[in-house]
Amino acid sequence: MEQQLKQLEQEALAKIEAASNLKELNDVRVAYLGKKGPITDLLKGMGKLSPEERPKMGALVNTVRENVTNQLEARITILEEQAIQEQLEKESIDVTLPGRKIRTGNRHPLTRVIEEIEDLFLSMGYEIAEGPEVEKDYYNFEALNLPKGHPARDMQDTFYITEETLLRTHTSPVQARTMEAKKGEPIRIICPGKVFRRDNDDATHSHQFMQIEGLVIGENIRMSDLKGTLDALAKRMFGEEREIRLRPSFFPFTEPSVEVDVSCHKCGGTGCNVCKQTGWIEILGAGMVHPNVLEMAGYDSKKLSGFAFGIGAERIAMLKYGVDDIRHFYTNDIRFLSQFHRTEE
Ligand SMILES: [Zn+2]
Repeated sequence: MEQQLKQLEQEALAKIEAASNLKELNDVRVAYLGKKGPITDLLKGMGKLSPEERPKMGALVNTVRENVTNQLEARITILEEQAIQEQLEKESIDVTLPGRKIRTGNRHPLTRVIEEIEDLFLSMGYEIAEGPEVEKDYYNFEALNLPKGHPARDMQDTFYITEETLLRTHTSPVQARTMEAKKGEPIRIICPGKVFRRDNDDATHSHQFMQIEGLVIGENIRMSDLKGTLDALAKRMFGEEREIRLRPSFFPFTEPSVEVDVSCHKCGGTGCNVCKQTGWIEILGAGMVHPNVLEMAGYDSKKLSGFAFGIGAERIAMLKYGVDDIRHFYTNDIRFLSQFHRTEE
């Protein structure tokens, strides 16, 4: 019987070693250790042995059973690891394949122009102020020296919601609101935002566009401060060699008022189609804040003075990027927008 056991053990171990997958191993387990297996049979036959032999044989059967079980488990572990390894190899990724290109977006040209102007003025100590696009007649016109019936209102016809509520025609109401809130304190702000006019859309006009206005109020603020500020702006937007010139103009909220031209960035001043052969391009309107506007907001126009200017973001972007139709900015045509690639920044 001892001989028989040893032989069974050898057989079982050899089969375990030879098994190449988990199913074969399971078959070996059932065949040798199962209820109908030979080892169980031997245990059942123990009753026929003499009482002296029984403990010895019992111990031997247990040892064999343990050996076979341990071998079996060790082999299962190995085969399982192999299976995982094979799966990993089969599913491995070929890192040498070229990747799929992700299409990155870029900032809208108007956003870029506005952010560039904001950066410049923030670096000069200005704050950015914003206000409502649906505005009261009072802040859009009256507080800016444009009482009801003033002829200059005709130049800024807009969309009315009620008699007293309208879509703002410029960002100047933000200036009026800021002056009111500051109660006589000095101010240095720029106000970027959407504005609206009752205009028919064409290549250079839009019923909605972006404006950036600036306002400085303090002691001893003079025309020369305005000129220096606008000179810095022109150089930042169109290059260090640019110069500006001021021409007299009229706005109800400034006195004196000026139109500001910048020397042509394309021809350098000799004359070309961009500057209509004049060497100069009109870029913005500006002036010294009208005493009436200061007084209406509670400022003492004898003690404090200020300047203001207003820029059209579209106008700057059209000149800077050579865009020939203002409507391109709003139609969201990807062929247009993708030309302003982020690497240019
Ligand atoms: Zn030119």
